[in-house]
Amino acid sequence: MSEQAKEQTLAETAPSRYECRSCGYVYEPTKGDSNRDVPPGTPFEELPNDWRCPVCGARTSQFENIGSSGAPSGFQENLNYGLGVNRLTPGQKNLLIFGALALGFLFFLSLYGLR
Ligand SMILES: [Zn+2]
Repeated sequence: MSEQAKEQTLAETAPSRYECRSCGYVYEPTKGDSNRDVPPGTPFEELPNDWRCPVCGARTSQFENIGSSGAPSGFQENLNYGLGVNRLTPGQKNLLIFGALALGFLFFLSLYGLR
């Protein structure tokens, strides 16, 4: 019982986003779909059966769960593996990547300074 409750917590705090495999459109549960009268906060699983991708018209079965924006990326079971990178949210990953880029740029500039 407690195991199940724990698994549900992650899904409840941040509903999963779904990406259209045909065109790359991402359904954001927090935004809903104003074109189809889907109110913000509607999980993908509760969309009407006749809901289609607003961009290319693909069925909901063509969508892939890409996880929520707020929760750590990667599968929940994998969170403890792999140097802890899987625990980072996408925002933190971006910070890491751009931070590394900025450092590389500064290093590049310092080479110019030496000439
Ligand atoms: Zn689409």
